[in-house]
Amino acid sequence: MQGDIERVLISQDQIATRVRELAQQITADHTPPKMPDGGEVTIVPILTGAFIFCGDLIRQIPLPIQIGLLTVSSYPGNSLRTQGSQLLGKQLGDVRGHHVLLIDDILDSGGTIKLVVPILKELGAASVRSCVLLRKDRPAAKETPVDYVGFEIPDEFVVGYGLDYNNYYRNLPDIVTLNAEAIERKA
Ligand code: 5GP
Ligand code: MG
Repeated sequence: MQGDIERVLISQDQIATRVRELAQQITADHTPPKMPDGGEVTIVPILTGAFIFCGDLIRQIPLPIQIGLLTVSSYPGNSLRTQGSQLLGKQLGDVRGHHVLLIDDILDSGGTIKLVVPILKELGAASVRSCVLLRKDRPAAKETPVDYVGFEIPDEFVVGYGLDYNNYYRNLPDIVTLNAEAIERKA
């Protein structure tokens, strides 16, 4: 797997430092006086890509949160570009009146956030915020409003730390690009 890496964009140490900072910011924003109504908080990772990021993040948020799950597919199989976001699964619990924080791995076309935010609002969430680990340098991503961003990255296809290519590479600890040989072999 190491031989498939073209370039390490963000190392596991850089990720760990930034995740700690994001967790501190999110904790402060969900604690009085910033959260005066003392409302319930539900954190919703968008599966599959966000599962590792969310796992690391929530263990540094010392608040009484609940977890909901949404599964959305945008890059099915060996796609290197978004094929449009499709909701595949929903296990949210009752989010009526809850402050929902969506967690996604990467903001690219914005299709996933635009698909999911209205669903949470229709289910009666009191507020919906979103946190992405990575944001690509492209207009569609910059124009999609999100509340927390871990890192700005170039508009390249990346894997690792939960992000996949054809469902491989999610277990790489760093965020990396793949070489052409690996992209061909794992297609
Ligand atoms: P959007 O809906 O904003 O276009 O893209 C978000 C989703 O597309 C992410 O949750 C992720 O699943 C997928 N995606 C976007 N860019 C990349 C990428 O560079 N690498 C991988 N592995 N997935 C990506
Ligand atoms: Mg995704």
